[in-house]
Amino acid sequence: MRVSVDDDVCGGHGVCVMLCPEVFVLEDAGYARAVVEEVPAAHEAAVREAEIRCPTRAIRVQ
Ligand code: SF4
Repeated sequence: MRVSVDDDVCGGHGVCVMLCPEVFVLEDAGYARAVVEEVPAAHEAAVREAEIRCPTRAIRVQ
């Protein structure tokens, strides 16, 4: 599974970081970034949850 954050859409709410800090970090500019492109299997469920719960639908999972 691959993941990315669209920083044009991210509102910096931090829901993703709260749900999966192993994959998402908040940048100083206030936007989230995925620190890995390829999500480890152990974190796939948390990343899918973040995708669903992101208020601005900024998370892309493929
Ligand atoms: S939950 Fe969505 S809007 Fe909030 S920081 Fe993460 S990607 Fe950005």
